[in-house]
Amino acid sequence: MMTRREALKTTMLAAAACAAGSALPMATAQPASALANGPFTLPKLPYPADALEPHIDARTMEIHHARHHKAYVDNLNKAIAEAPELATKRIDDLLKSLDAVPEKIRTTVRNNGGGHYNHELFWQMMKKGGGGEPKGELAKAIEKRFGSFNAFKDEFARAATGQFGSGWAWLVVDGGELRVVATPNQDTPVMRGIPELRAAGAPLLGIDVWEHAYYLHYQNRRADYISAWWNVVNWDFATQRYAKLKG
Ligand code: MN
Repeated sequence: MMTRREALKTTMLAAAACAAGSALPMATAQPASALANGPFTLPKLPYPADALEPHIDARTMEIHHARHHKAYVDNLNKAIAEAPELATKRIDDLLKSLDAVPEKIRTTVRNNGGGHYNHELFWQMMKKGGGGEPKGELAKAIEKRFGSFNAFKDEFARAATGQFGSGWAWLVVDGGELRVVATPNQDTPVMRGIPELRAAGAPLLGIDVWEHAYYLHYQNRRADYISAWWNVVNWDFATQRYAKLKG
């Protein structure tokens, strides 16, 4: 039995933990650092936050990376703490077999694991001084599949504009074939293991069309954001991924 004095001390400690902003419910007495040290970590942006100006403004990049992406990582780590046997898995392996994730955390892993995976790719799919057109094998494959680079851009932009609400548009390679697909929320084309997934393939290029990706600068003008985004596309990254993943 807890003495009155001990009970008081526990209450005061709990109150102090709350005041310090602990995100954990009091019933789980883990130190807050257990979250920060979870298996998944927020990668650094591969360039300064203002590198994509004027097409994507620094403030949007800061909030998008340090708050939105960080929240996906933190929530993923919290979920994985309930299934420690998954802590050594790579994020793409987790997403490729969502049916192997315990049902109680499956939706959380789908949303936040998807968010982590998508954003880690997204930062690399852009660069300062990007844009232009792809070269080499990927350029040839795009021309063969879509007729021309401009025809590809039109189809990709249509998918990005037409994604109702939050989501992504992607250029994927699937069984050697290029395809443009869209995914809702933080679903990603590599996800497998739940019935409602339709888009499949390995992402070569993707655009985040959640409002948090553009609303500060573009407000409701998603089409303007998409047009500007072509100026920051990292075609070297997409080309390297194509070479690696086309087989
Ligand atoms: Mn986002």
